[in-house]
Amino acid sequence: MQNKFTWPSHEMRLGPSTFLNFSKHFCADFNFIRTGRPSSAPCPSFSAAMSAVPTQNDVVSGQTESTQKTQQPLQVAKRLEKFKTTIFTQMSNLAIKHGAINLGQGFPNFDGPEFVKEAAIQAVIDGKNQYARGYGVPDLNNAIAERFKKDTGFVVDPEKEITVTSGCTEAIAATMLGLINPGDEVILFAPFYDSYEATLSMAGAKVKGITLRPPDFAVPIDELRSTISKNTRAILLNSPHNPTGKMFTREELDVIASLCIENDVLVFSDEVYDKLAFEMDHISPASLPGMYERTVTMNSLGKTFSLTGWKIGWAIAPPHLTWGVRQAHSYLTFATSTPMQWAAAIALRAPDSYYVELKRDYQAKKAILVEGLKSVGFKVYPSSGTYFVVVDHTPFGLENDVAFCEYLIKEVGVVAIPTSVFYLNPEDGKNLVRFTFCKDEGTLRAAVDRMKEKLRR
Ligand code: GLN
Repeated sequence: MQNKFTWPSHEMRLGPSTFLNFSKHFCADFNFIRTGRPSSAPCPSFSAAMSAVPTQNDVVSGQTESTQKTQQPLQVAKRLEKFKTTIFTQMSNLAIKHGAINLGQGFPNFDGPEFVKEAAIQAVIDGKNQYARGYGVPDLNNAIAERFKKDTGFVVDPEKEITVTSGCTEAIAATMLGLINPGDEVILFAPFYDSYEATLSMAGAKVKGITLRPPDFAVPIDELRSTISKNTRAILLNSPHNPTGKMFTREELDVIASLCIENDVLVFSDEVYDKLAFEMDHISPASLPGMYERTVTMNSLGKTFSLTGWKIGWAIAPPHLTWGVRQAHSYLTFATSTPMQWAAAIALRAPDSYYVELKRDYQAKKAILVEGLKSVGFKVYPSSGTYFVVVDHTPFGLENDVAFCEYLIKEVGVVAIPTSVFYLNPEDGKNLVRFTFCKDEGTLRAAVDRMKEKLRR
């Protein structure tokens, strides 16, 4: 298939001035690439896209009531200069701009349950509107402890071991900033959720990446063994895993646990998709022998209750680790939304039937998307959990994931997420794109129909 967009590599090779023209005309929409690291620019379109992204030397227009348009250099602290507008923000903006069906950013296009929304309204009416206690409304800390006991069998102290945060993203930031010193080594499994690397950069950590590769995205144990050492401060786990849908097996987690214990390494575990575990049971690393005392378990309300905009998250950790998390949290946000916390406590006490139904609904959505993507001609990798599925786009002949997503938005009218932004080396993700199935069935079917009609091998 011809790439109708202007990522043509021959043009890219013509040099900076040609490229500037290209970027002026075509790159405004596709400010995809996140890093300025030179070693990660292996193919022309990646380097092209990177050069097209504003840097500190570029200028932006600004206008106030009293002044003409002035040109100001963009400013950002060094710790964040290699990161770009998040891929989720970029793709959702493009979905709106091009009227494309958004199977990119992972937010449901349906609402959370009535009983939770009503609880929030009631909390506002009842006057639960001033600052919450910094580490959480007591009732929510209790509800989180109850749920953790139900899920893992562990009894935790809601007062000393649970910190309520503004979404799991803040729990991640507070954990990194509260427990990682500049220069500490932290291991990430790529592809990884974009905020991990950015918050580690804010903390001054040295990031070590281990790439999980298709088809099963298994942990390369030997590579992990040779990467982990006494210099490693922490390892970040995310199971079920965004973007691949991989779930870490018990065998993998056992090996990881024993390496962490042997080398005195902390585990930061992002478990926001724990209730969307389809093919196997979710295992919290904290529940493995000897692991609770070295693990921060992070979760949130958003995915489980289809309320991603509420931004209610939490971190569970033994008191000696909770101290660091809370110190960072205290000065990041201090406390999070009071009425939403009251409602979150009610949500977490939902009957088991709620979770069963949630999973059943998502299984049906998953089947529509996965079967649809297969019939369109993608190579679809198995996803055991989350509401994401990763596919190999190469049957359609586009040169990389960014080019493919660009084509898909503009020519087909569907948004997916290019995965190269989730790797330390973007080349590793150039064949893979992520689709989400957290949309109503009609939307999923419409997206599949568009692809069937317009995507040709
Ligand atoms: N977790 C969501 C996803 O992976 C996105 C969250 C965000 O936009 N930062 O799609």
